[in-house]
Amino acid sequence: MKNERRTSEPGKGTGSTKDGAPRKGSGNALPKESGKAQAKAQANKAEAKRSHSAAAKASGTTSAKGWGTTAGAGSHDAVRIVFLGGLGEIGRNCACIEVNGRILVLDVGIMFPDPDMPGVDLVLPDFTYLRENADRVDGVILTHGHEDHTGGLAYLLRDFPVPVYGSELTLALARNRVDEAGMADRAQFIPVRDGERRRIGPCDVEFIPVTHSVPHAFATAFHTPQGIILHSGDFKIDLHPVDGRRTDLARMGALASDPGIRLLLADSTNAEEPGFTPSESTVGATLERVFLARPDQRFIVTCFASHIHRVQQVADAAIAEGRLVATLGLSMKKNVTLARRLGLLEIPDDSLVDIEDIDDLDPGRVCVISTGSQGEPMSALSRLAAGENRFFQLQENDVVVISAHPIPGNEWSVGRVIDSLYRRGVEVIHSGVDAVHVSGHARQGELAMLMSVTRPEFFIPVHGEYRHMANHIRLAESMGITGDRVLLCEDGDAVRLDDSGLHRDGTVPGGYLFVDGSSVGDIGHGVLRDRMVLAEEGVVMAVATVDLKQGEVVGTPQIVTRGWAYDHDTEVLLDEARAEVTKALEHALSNGSHDHETLNRAARKALGRLVGDRTRQRPMIVPVIVTV
Ligand SMILES: [Zn+2]
Ligand SMILES: [Zn+2]
Repeated sequence: MKNERRTSEPGKGTGSTKDGAPRKGSGNALPKESGKAQAKAQANKAEAKRSHSAAAKASGTTSAKGWGTTAGAGSHDAVRIVFLGGLGEIGRNCACIEVNGRILVLDVGIMFPDPDMPGVDLVLPDFTYLRENADRVDGVILTHGHEDHTGGLAYLLRDFPVPVYGSELTLALARNRVDEAGMADRAQFIPVRDGERRRIGPCDVEFIPVTHSVPHAFATAFHTPQGIILHSGDFKIDLHPVDGRRTDLARMGALASDPGIRLLLADSTNAEEPGFTPSESTVGATLERVFLARPDQRFIVTCFASHIHRVQQVADAAIAEGRLVATLGLSMKKNVTLARRLGLLEIPDDSLVDIEDIDDLDPGRVCVISTGSQGEPMSALSRLAAGENRFFQLQENDVVVISAHPIPGNEWSVGRVIDSLYRRGVEVIHSGVDAVHVSGHARQGELAMLMSVTRPEFFIPVHGEYRHMANHIRLAESMGITGDRVLLCEDGDAVRLDDSGLHRDGTVPGGYLFVDGSSVGDIGHGVLRDRMVLAEEGVVMAVATVDLKQGEVVGTPQIVTRGWAYDHDTEVLLDEARAEVTKALEHALSNGSHDHETLNRAARKALGRLVGDRTRQRPMIVPVIVTV
């Protein structure tokens, strides 16, 4: 597949950031305008006519028909957007952009299970719609390397092979799971650069730099027959990013002016939070202060392994104080190696030390950068807290810095790890104690700024729980984007953008797809409900043998329990239970019931009632009736 790189907005500069700051490892600006750009300019102006925000500015001198137009003048192909995940939860982000019957998939993420999903390893988007329309899918675009955007790719590739586009780092991070699953040969990984605009399937796709908690994240502009659809990706507006690569508001503003932005889809994660998310570089200053105040103590700093900018700042602060840096945890080691190779992380060779050698060094000369910021039970930090790390043991004088926020649902695990660390006499510095973490997502001030710069005709909030999206809608309304210009969608919703506006367009399967070990999709809500009951109340089983000919119960039913406890008089209660089950079965038999189902129901009802009445508990009741 050969993709032509196109020039950006003719006469509008290069589309790259013009902040003058050096970009570590970022792509080049777009090529200079070519002769072909003229025809493009006409097309873009036609596009502009369709956008209300640009309409006022349009000169009305163009005669070119918009590209992608198949119908007569004045009517343009509708664009359909289908949301498969991420609208109602933080995780499993996945959307389809459909132009001329072809589909581009934007992100294929996973979600980590909630506490009410016992035994579930991962949650995926429901791929039914994609599977059924696999022949129409032209590619997957990954906005950035976080697992809630890339982690489901390995599972989608089981269903069908597909080309995958993203920044070099994003693709490298995404490949981890794909390689593990042995699916690498089913994907074609195609790196794209900052500011690049290229034809992918049915439309031009433009990759606009944004700042986030992983380097080289993109907002994505789809140039469609219905105008520009701009998806913010996960973003914040960091004016002092660690690598100097800023959110390219200038390019978004240029698109807003010409041809205008028809539809904005934007990150809602922090839409409840007023103000602005502080710059990532503020963390570096905090770390320097924290290090400086403890010159003789050993530091263990934990953060997300993909947060290369955080790792850079930890390393910078440590090296400035004359420390050597060691990595702990497989993914940290892997990502540090990868990011150094891609030129995204600068740690001199002579400042790195192997984790096995740190015990030979003065504590004041060591800084360990570790995984485990989420309290994951098998992670490096949890192992350290439990005294089970095979490389070194924590000492009383050590300092642990948790440079991350717990993802919702992980607070308890993180709290437990912190407790264990305190038991070892270690000083723990987390975001509740000092400013050792900032979010990677925009707060209200930045969301309003994006709205103001992009001036979209229509707006749909994405990436958030329902309340985040609802607040994002309010924010849009406060800025005058009201009425049928805003739409609150949820997983499984489809919308249509046509000449007359934005409309709901039915639904597709958008539920949770559970992964448990090697089983994908075999677990339904019934199984989870059973697991919850078993986990919370245990199980009480009645095993009885029934002689159908004689119409009687043979012997005494057995009562077997697991995870169910009723302290005193248990034996008395079990005796009663045996009697109740016998009575219920005999009653059913005397009424002429000989089928398994009726006998089961009779035994379950009798036993359940007795257990409920006596113990005020609701364990799972399982009758096992053997007929002879
Ligand atoms: Zn993200
Ligand atoms: Zn995300």
